[in-house]
Amino acid sequence: MSIVSDLFAGEIGVSVKTAVSVLTSYPASAAAFAKIVRGMKNAEQRRVGLAGKGMDVPPLLIVSTTEECNLSCKGCYACEQGRKTGEALSAARVSEVLDEASELGVSIVMLAGGEPLLSQNWLDAMSKHSELLGLVFTNGTLIDESRLEWFAEHRHIIPVLSIEGDAAQTDARRGAGIHMKVNQAMEAMRSSGIPFGAAITVTRQNMGDVLTDDFTCEYLQKGCRLFIYVEYVPVVPGTEPLVLSKADKKRLGDFTDRSAVKHATPFIAFPGNEEPYGGCLAAGRGFVHISAAGGVEPCPFAPFSDVNLKNATLKDALNSALLAKVRENHHLLVEGDGGCALWRNRELLTGLVVQE
Ligand code: SF4
Repeated sequence: MSIVSDLFAGEIGVSVKTAVSVLTSYPASAAAFAKIVRGMKNAEQRRVGLAGKGMDVPPLLIVSTTEECNLSCKGCYACEQGRKTGEALSAARVSEVLDEASELGVSIVMLAGGEPLLSQNWLDAMSKHSELLGLVFTNGTLIDESRLEWFAEHRHIIPVLSIEGDAAQTDARRGAGIHMKVNQAMEAMRSSGIPFGAAITVTRQNMGDVLTDDFTCEYLQKGCRLFIYVEYVPVVPGTEPLVLSKADKKRLGDFTDRSAVKHATPFIAFPGNEEPYGGCLAAGRGFVHISAAGGVEPCPFAPFSDVNLKNATLKDALNSALLAKVRENHHLLVEGDGGCALWRNRELLTGLVVQE
């Protein structure tokens, strides 16, 4: 197993162990998490075995389960990239893909979109894999009684609700009244004893508000037990001034490290400081992205693929020529200001794709 995914898996492992300590206050979830930790150990052994045969399996899969969404947020990376849409994977194929992922040694599956609560196929398939940790990145506006029951039944799957800061900041990007809806969903989950997380898109505009103890304590009180800070990627031309500088990235990393210790709960910066891993973790070094149409891509911010899961196994896809080329050239994906190294170097990527 490459040193990279080894390190990355280690980091993830730490976060999950922290999560287990948190979840002792949620007995029903603690049992599910103990199973995930066992699953992660077994998965790591499978990855090590395959690495010995020259194959790198990333511990993390990021899946855009659908292009559909009930909101239209400003700067939505899913909407703005002009990704080739196509027919979604069938329910049967989705189920097979998660079986293959588990067999290969994947440990965590992030379900995003569009709005992942609009794609039941991936949720149903994920519900059958209690050895995997599922993170559902949802806008939170579709969480009703039946969803609460579903998450209560499948405690290896954690909802992560998107917010942008306070009510004004969230509504400005996501639409009037969305902040209130998200907080109502959080309260419903807290009172139902369902652990959840928050995903906060960090920009130069809101970092002074969301990288504060006041902000995190407010959400800890609301029952939030996982904080994922996602660096803004300027997919909308002209929004580059919102991107974190290198110094801002360091401040974000220091804040999440400090907060994780202070509050004894997972705080993750994404993609965060990739330098310890030798740079960008995309293309299978730490994770890969599966588009709604089944394309296997280096990253959610790199809408390029040369293989599709409609007619290839996940194993074959991870060995795709394009992913290999990105890995071979990752030294060219220079780290710099925030966001995404692949997005920043998309001309290079386009060049690699053309060569394919
Ligand atoms: S909720 Fe997510 S996918 Fe939907 S428009 Fe907003 S950012 Fe895009």
